[in-house]
Amino acid sequence: MLLAVIQGSKHNLARLAEATYERRGDYPAMFFEGRWHSSGDLFDRACRLGAGLVELGVRPGDRVVVTMANAPEVGIVYNALWRAGAVVTPAMFLLPAEDLRHVIADAEAVGVITTPEFVGKVRDAIAGIDLEPFVISTGEVQDGVVALASLEHGAPAAAVERDDDDLAALLYTGGTTGRAKGVMLSHANLHYTGHAAYEAAHISGVNRALVTLPLSHSYGILVTLAGMHDSERPVAVLLRWFDPRAFLELIGEHQLQLAAVVPSMLQILLSQPLEEHDLSSLSYLTSGGAPLAAEVEAEFRRRVPTVAIRQGYGLTETAALISTNPTGREKPGSVGLPVPGCSVQIVDELGRELPAGEAGEVCCTSPGVMRGYWDSPEATAQALRGGRLHTGDIGYLDQDGYLFIVDRKKDVIIRGGFNVYPRDIEDALLEHPAVQLAGVVGRPDPVHGEEVVAFVSLHAGAEVTVEELFDWGRTRIGGYKYPRELHIVDAIPLTAVGKIDRKSLRQALLTVG
Ligand code: AMP
Repeated sequence: MLLAVIQGSKHNLARLAEATYERRGDYPAMFFEGRWHSSGDLFDRACRLGAGLVELGVRPGDRVVVTMANAPEVGIVYNALWRAGAVVTPAMFLLPAEDLRHVIADAEAVGVITTPEFVGKVRDAIAGIDLEPFVISTGEVQDGVVALASLEHGAPAAAVERDDDDLAALLYTGGTTGRAKGVMLSHANLHYTGHAAYEAAHISGVNRALVTLPLSHSYGILVTLAGMHDSERPVAVLLRWFDPRAFLELIGEHQLQLAAVVPSMLQILLSQPLEEHDLSSLSYLTSGGAPLAAEVEAEFRRRVPTVAIRQGYGLTETAALISTNPTGREKPGSVGLPVPGCSVQIVDELGRELPAGEAGEVCCTSPGVMRGYWDSPEATAQALRGGRLHTGDIGYLDQDGYLFIVDRKKDVIIRGGFNVYPRDIEDALLEHPAVQLAGVVGRPDPVHGEEVVAFVSLHAGAEVTVEELFDWGRTRIGGYKYPRELHIVDAIPLTAVGKIDRKSLRQALLTVG
């Protein structure tokens, strides 16, 4: 088998999984809902399933949609699909049938792999699709659905050869304007960012991790791939989805040392009695995927001083990684230094590079940059114009080369000719002790062009009036940009990965106010 590793393409992810297993051997590697799974069992199941998928008719380059909540089977399915040479096409299990249908139809997927609770939705989603994709499910299955277990019964077969530039994953993203687009990521793209994330953040002996990010999102996939480069024997405690109580309890129970989170998770954790939990083993939290408010970071540090928070930054289009704060050289507020091999340029509207300290669009070149958007040559050409990826984020580099993200270009509100960054307003509102989450969007306005509208949710038991929040905003936020319209809501909508869902907030504007 080792020979195959040496001969095969350098970055094939199935080979990476193979080499990882050969290096570490069999040990209890993953804990999920009361049960340990050994590395040997996880690897063996993937090898058998890979062979079963080939037998079912999956061919190299075929797209197969995977729609599951986190479970050990997700990793098994991904590895099995890579062994069959197929393209992993994750779809968040929270997607409504119509959006799932878009992913299946757009990707021209040959099949869908899911769990029993979503079989009905998958059936609705594929109804009438010409290609008639197969449906595979874990657990007991009904007529017309293939049991995943039945595909694990055969003998394992060798992994199919793939070139480094062949697609490993098609990740649907965006949808802030129009329908979600498929981001084409190659084996080389994902191999590179997994390795770079590992190199930047790894500390010997610190490898007992809580995994709560959805494995259907590029950030969750990155974290998993980074772990595969670890030469020691890492342990993952996997959560089906983020649950603050389980998060805190499992850290103490399994003496976990690190976790990757999105900022809204930190924010939600702050509402918990952190001091009552044993968090003494926890050394690092990696925050990425969305802006981390200074206030949230400071409050978390104050309440759990033993935990270092490291910010990283990336997009699905860059296989989830551009920059991260190197261990021991973290800069609060910054998303860190571009990882080795990745170069960041800040450009103005005309594509001219801007000097340190000046904000413009963040662009990058890196071996992690996508092959393009699936079936969208124009969107690809636009995103990759001038030979670099345009992230759609506004940011600046400081004198030391650290990157700071200001906001999403598309979310900037222009009020009376002034740029208002929603993030500034959200951060200021979060400083109010009653506010748990804040989301800010623009409403078209005949006088000012756009008006700033804030939605806030409150900590459990906290009380504050809209007038008090207006006063808070007026005194802390510049006169031209404090929100003139403010709504206290039960919950701020979050995307499946836990980002403030400004798209839903814009829709909510149509029904409030
Ligand atoms: P996605 O493709 O879903 O991973 O979304 C990528 C977007 O998330 C980026 O373009 C940024 O707008 C945002 N993002 C990711 N990480 C950070 C971060 N550390 N700070 C601010 N925004 C971030």
